[in-house]
Amino acid sequence: MLTIIAIVVFWTVQVSALLAFAVPFTWAMLGLWAVSHFLRALGLTLCFHRYFAHRAFQMGRASRFVWAFIGTAAMQKGPLWWAGHHVNHHKYADRDGDPHSPAVSGIYYAHIGWFLNDARHDRIEATNPVIRDFTGPEIVWLDRYFFVPPLALAITMYLIGGLQWLVWGFIVPTVTLAHATFAINTVNHMFGSRRFATLDDSRNNAFTALMAAGEGWHNNHHRYQRAARNGFYWWEVDLTWYTIRAMQAVGLAWDVQPVPARIYAEARMQNRDESRRAIMGRASSRSEAASVAEPELVDTLGRVFEPGAEPRVREAAGHRSASA
Ligand SMILES: [Zn+2]
Ligand SMILES: [Zn+2]
Repeated sequence: MLTIIAIVVFWTVQVSALLAFAVPFTWAMLGLWAVSHFLRALGLTLCFHRYFAHRAFQMGRASRFVWAFIGTAAMQKGPLWWAGHHVNHHKYADRDGDPHSPAVSGIYYAHIGWFLNDARHDRIEATNPVIRDFTGPEIVWLDRYFFVPPLALAITMYLIGGLQWLVWGFIVPTVTLAHATFAINTVNHMFGSRRFATLDDSRNNAFTALMAAGEGWHNNHHRYQRAARNGFYWWEVDLTWYTIRAMQAVGLAWDVQPVPARIYAEARMQNRDESRRAIMGRASSRSEAASVAEPELVDTLGRVFEPGAEPRVREAAGHRSASA
């Protein structure tokens, strides 16, 4: 029953985005859209993703609740549900068990289907590190009553500015944010560049990085999940990272996890190998591929992945034949 209500509400909001053509447009409304889209994107990326799922930094209980509330207002269910699924995405990335992989379950299911009605992965195991460790009553409450923040936002928008504010301050940004988030699961596992030869199909994509507050540097992120930044270089725009840095500057965030020097070294090596291959052609790719970095075994919470369970870096095609 609850699932049916959730599906109806989801599609009602999606279709209602067409009301954007029915209410007057002003530049102020575009500003309202931007605030509602990007502020809630930060709630998801900074809090649900980088804090709850990856523990990329620490923050106090009050800031955590504020960000978790903002993230929950995105209408993407509760923080523990969201982050718990995300941990499983990394654990099984693009293999059976991944809740949303276009390679495993097709594009529609990886984009929307898994979120609306997932018969196989919806229940998260009690040993999931997110469920196991974040037991604060205010977070558990938010996770359970996840419909409260979006409902409060919708009502507030309507009370302030009627239908126009409801459409530009809630409906349209909720829809754009849903697809910006879901695109990380689909677009970023299909289209873009691969700086690191990870086991999964993750890719870096500047457009999704812009729309999803930095999350589009997804190949970087799959290579080293623990870092507080997903854009590994200054030119890789990452709104979430700038926000974490600002919080750190005023003492609201600490234990901010950096990208280790060895990961940058690996990126340089991969880059060098690629340019050499481009110059010398495929004939030399076998020996070059042998220099792909050692498998990374402890780049996430040690408790999530058993060290030694599997290599985190895909063997380059030539490597396998060279060693055979
Ligand atoms: Zn991914
Ligand atoms: Zn992640």
